[in-house]
Amino acid sequence: MIELKHVFKRYPLGIEALSDVSFRVARGEMAFLTGPSGAGKSTVLKLICLLERPTRGQVMVNGHDLARLKPYRLPHFRREIGVVFQDNRLLNERTVFDNVALPLLVAGVTGDEVRKRVLAALDKVGLRGRERGFPLALSGGEQQRVGIARALVHRPALLIADEPTGNLDAALSDDIIDLFQEFNDHGVTVLIATHDLRQIGRLQARVIRLGEGHMVSAA
Ligand code: ADP
Ligand code: ADP
Repeated sequence: MIELKHVFKRYPLGIEALSDVSFRVARGEMAFLTGPSGAGKSTVLKLICLLERPTRGQVMVNGHDLARLKPYRLPHFRREIGVVFQDNRLLNERTVFDNVALPLLVAGVTGDEVRKRVLAALDKVGLRGRERGFPLALSGGEQQRVGIARALVHRPALLIADEPTGNLDAALSDDIIDLFQEFNDHGVTVLIATHDLRQIGRLQARVIRLGEGHMVSAA
């Protein structure tokens, strides 16, 4: 599902964020990407969803060689990946329903289909019935669930998350990671960047370790 081969990434101003990084995540797998702050975790996720491009090396995602992806295919490619952020990035002046519906509207889905898919996504994250509320009326854990529903509303094959429990206490973090595990049990490939050792220790998932831009291990 994901393969990085000898990937280097140098940002403008000369910072080498990644140096010869290679690893694979198989279809159906759940893996943690970990390492100290600045190790390059976010950079790896940005390469996978094509928010950044490598300076050298190859990135393959869901059968696509990203260097060869035609610009007109980009919107379709983005729908194959659900992305969850630490700070959930919800629109606070829009309802829960509208936040989850947004990716569908952007994709041109209309009418009853929108309602059906939004309510199904909210149901999967345990928020059915909360669709008319606004994000700021929800707890931090619930807001993160709305972010996950929005990421999953296209039923993507791959879910990537950048420090999804960074703003949550231990119990809520467990709930969120367990939710990712449930999606994984239903076939969604999951890659979670985190330095939350507690979560890594709690689950049987693969661990890919980075240190200062280098691979440490991918056991
Ligand atoms: P992590 O997610 O593990 O904390 P990042 O991928 O965010 O690591 O950062 C890796 C390195 O790249 C850091 O030194 C960071 O300062 C640098 N970096 C990240 N994004 C940019 C950018 N847009 N421009 C310049 N340097 C960046
Ligand atoms: P079905 O096709 O009957 O829904 P699946 O085995 O595909 O059965 O999915 C089981 C559960 O997981 C269902 O609730 C389904 O909606 C959900 N699910 C499966 N894949 C995804 C995905 N990529 N994104 C969101 N939910 C998914």
